[in-house]
Amino acid sequence: FGHPWIFIRGVPSLNFLPPEGPLEVAFAGRSNVGKSSLINALVGQKGLARTSNTPGRTQELNYFVPDGYSGEGGDLPPTAIVDMPGYGYAQAPKEQVDKWTKLVFDYLRGRATLKRVYVLIDSRHGIKKNDDDVLDLLDKAAVSYQIVLTKTDKIKAAGVPKLLAETAEKIRKRPAAYPGVLSTSSEKGDGLDELRQAIAETVGI
Ligand code: GDP
Repeated sequence: FGHPWIFIRGVPSLNFLPPEGPLEVAFAGRSNVGKSSLINALVGQKGLARTSNTPGRTQELNYFVPDGYSGEGGDLPPTAIVDMPGYGYAQAPKEQVDKWTKLVFDYLRGRATLKRVYVLIDSRHGIKKNDDDVLDLLDKAAVSYQIVLTKTDKIKAAGVPKLLAETAEKIRKRPAAYPGVLSTSSEKGDGLDELRQAIAETVGI
């Protein structure tokens, strides 16, 4: 993480995926969960991921790689971070949800170099129905995922261990869930080193 990251492309459908090569991790979560803030905090670059995921711009997988690698012509980056489109808009029309599900499921099923998806859950809300649907999708696609609680500064510090234990218990029987739930606050910087460490171990950087 000690280098600048750049946005290389938005992927609206699988034909636009960068060549497979580097191991990648992806971030998923309900809109407003704090996904952009967390990606920006992880890399220490404020404007990398867009913090206002407006509903119209949600249908792309956004690829970030260390600066200096275009991903073209065999010039492959060592790793990539993929910002998956947010889900769970209250007024999302069914066709948009279907499109999201198709793009994400096709990607999850077809991307051999995707090592893990970090599924972000707002500490104040816990796992909701549409989070559960996404976990079902990940289990079905047999893609390893880990739960990351966000915005822990918004709840009492003493409540964090309890929430971690409750969340771990909720996903215990899920086949593709990686054991161990992480907690973060982009605002305070809590848990960022642990998450960086987890990612580094996952993609071997
Ligand atoms: P996204 O839609 O998942 O990308 O969410 P954003 O990163 O845009 O964040 C949504 C809102 O939550 C914004 O108002 C952020 O300022 C706020 N937010 C994000 N992370 C944190 C955090 O760790 N603590 C607090 N208190 N607010 C946060």
